[in-house]
Order: sequence, then structure tokens, then C-alpha cells
Amino acid sequence: MSALAYRSSSDNGLSFDLLVDGVALGEVLGDGNEGIPYWIVEDDLPHWPPHGTPRDPEYRIVTVCSCGEYGCGHTRCRVIKTADTVALRDFAGDVGADGAARVFTFSRSGYEQVVSEIVAEARHQKETNGEQSAPPNGGPATPVENSRLTEGPPSVS
Ligand SMILES: [Zn+2]
Repeated sequence: MSALAYRSSSDNGLSFDLLVDGVALGEVLGDGNEGIPYWIVEDDLPHWPPHGTPRDPEYRIVTVCSCGEYGCGHTRCRVIKTADTVALRDFAGDVGADGAARVFTFSRSGYEQVVSEIVAEARHQKETNGEQSAPPNGGPATPVENSRLTEGPPSVS
């Protein structure tokens, strides 16, 4: 059994490298890719594709091109869970034949711990971004409360 951990970096704002026995997964697989950018992380390792209907619910993106665009380059794999273990297998995308044949098995508790920490960091980053940018749904240019104030108090019937 291998040990799963992760390392966050400031690449593309915030990225997460999965570490297998202390080595970045991109290096282990030799796929030329780097960490997972935070914006495709929602409640688990990102689906493939990250948004919209997944083709295969077991597939997760595990490495992404250094530019942060999974469409530019990524490796995905199946995440197979049992009660006690999690296996990453069936690697596809930018891996060669050697990488595609790899199987990594982790303890289920270790895997869940890593994923929950990544999800928490990604959420925090999104919340931080949200405070600094425009309203997400492009609300009215003038807040409703203000326009009401300029017209006097609302009539009470
Ligand atoms: Zn790229």
C-alpha cells in the first residue's frame, strides 16, 4: 500500500499536487503535468469533465497541465473505493503505456483526509476570490435599496 498526501502551491493561484509516497503524481507517472488548479475542485477530486455530466462517474482528474487548463493537458484515472482502501487505476490522458498500467492503493481514511483538505482549501480560495470580485450573477448596477431611498419611504397600506 502507498501513502497519499498532497502539497499546495501558488501555481495558477492555488494548485494541489497529489503525492504518492512523497513524490508528485505527475513525476511518478511521467506525464509532464502538474497540480490540480483549485477552480475545478468542488466536493471531491475533479470529475472529468469537471463541470457538466461526467462520462464515467469513477473518473477523476489527478494531474493538469502547468497552464491550469485541463483541456490543454491532464491525466485522469478511476478511483475505486472499498470499505478500507482506495485504488487509483486505469490512468488515461497524457500518460504513456507504463503510466497507464500503474495501480496505486491507499488507505481509505488517508485518501478521504487528503481529499477533504484539498476541498476545504479550494473552497476557501473561491470565497476569498468572491469577496474581491463583482457579484456572481451580475446584479443590478444600482442596488434596489438605494433606488427606494431616493424615492422616499415605501407607502404602507
Ligand atoms: Zn497547457
